[in-house]
Amino acid sequence: MGLFPSISKIMRKGKGLFLLLLCLCVVAWIATFSNDDTVKSVQEGSNPLDDRSVEGFAQLELESEMMQSLEEQQSVRKSCPEHSPLLRGAIKLSFDPSLTIEQVESDNGEVVEGQYNPSDCEARQSVAILIPHRNREKHLLYLLHHLHPFLQRQQLHYAIYIIHQAGDATFNRAKLLNVGYLEALKDQSWDCFIFHDADLVPENDHNLYMCEDQPKHLVVGRNSTGYKLRYKGYFGGVSAMTKEQFHKVNGFPNSYWGWGGEDDDLRIRVTLQKMSIIRPSLEVARYTMVFHNRDSGNQINEERMHLLRRTHQAWKTDGLNSCSYKILSVHRAPLFINITTDIGQPEIAL
Ligand code: BGC
Repeated sequence: MGLFPSISKIMRKGKGLFLLLLCLCVVAWIATFSNDDTVKSVQEGSNPLDDRSVEGFAQLELESEMMQSLEEQQSVRKSCPEHSPLLRGAIKLSFDPSLTIEQVESDNGEVVEGQYNPSDCEARQSVAILIPHRNREKHLLYLLHHLHPFLQRQQLHYAIYIIHQAGDATFNRAKLLNVGYLEALKDQSWDCFIFHDADLVPENDHNLYMCEDQPKHLVVGRNSTGYKLRYKGYFGGVSAMTKEQFHKVNGFPNSYWGWGGEDDDLRIRVTLQKMSIIRPSLEVARYTMVFHNRDSGNQINEERMHLLRRTHQAWKTDGLNSCSYKILSVHRAPLFINITTDIGQPEIAL
C-alpha cells in the first residue's frame, strides 16, 4: 500500500526534473551558439584591422631600424679623436693693424653667435672661454682672429664670452670672471671654463683648451718674460677649471679692484681644497702678449697683500656665493657673446 503512491510521486518529480534538465540543455546550447557567433564576428571584424597592424608594424620596424642606423652613424661620428688631426703645432702669429672684425667674421663662417660645434664629430668637451674686458678692442680683435681657428683645430665645442665692465670703477678682473661663469651657465652646462686675458695670444695649438682632473694653468711662458714661468705659484693670464672645480673653490674673490693678486687668491683657494695646479710643457704653453701700457682704471691694487692674508677665511663668503651684479645687456655678435655688466664699486675707496 504505501509503496505504489511513493513510486508515482517520484515519477512525477522525475518528470519535472527531466523537463528542468531539458530546459537547461537548450539554454546552454543557445548560449554556446551565440558565443561562437560573437567570437566569430570579433574575429571577422579583426581581420582587416590585423592586416593594417601588420603593415603598421612593418612601418614601425623600418622606422626604428632607420633610427638605429642613424644613431649608429652618429655614434660612429660620436667622439672626436683624442688627438685632433687638425693640430699644427707652433703657429706664426700675425698682428696686422689693418685687420677688421668683418674679415675675422668671414674667416670663421661656422661660428654662430660666438659658438662653434664640430660638424663631423662629437666634441670631447664643451668649453666656455671667458674674457674680461675694458678698452682693449684691438687686442680683442687679434685674439679672436687667432683663437677661433685655434679652438676649431682642437675640435672643441666652445663659445667665447666677453664680459665687459660698464662704468668707470676700477677694473675688477676676478669679479668679471665670476659674472661670466654664472651667466655662461645660463646658456648651458659647460664642462670647462677658460679664464682668459684679452692681451694673451696662444702660440701653439697643442696647448689644449680642455679641463683636466686638476685645475690647469696654461701660460707657462710668454714673450714678455722671456718664455719663463713668472714664479712657481703663478696662476694668471689663462687658466682652465671644470665647472665643479671652480664651484668648489667658490670662484674668484670679488674684492680685488685694480691690477694684481686675484690670480694668487684663486691659487690659494685651489690648494685649500687639496687640488693642485698642473701645467702643459713649456714648449706648448707659450703666449705672445700684445703690447700695451697699463690701462687707466686698472692701477696696481695696493691692498692685494693684505687681501691675500685673509683668503684662508674669506674664500667661503667672498666668491660666487656673494657675487652681486647687474646685467645691462647680452649681445650675441657673430663671433662672441658680449655681456655688459655693472659690478658696482669697491667697498673701500682705493
Ligand atoms: C700678482 C699677480 C700677477 C703676477 C704676474 C703678481 O705679483 O699678484 O696678480 O699675475 O704678479 O704679473
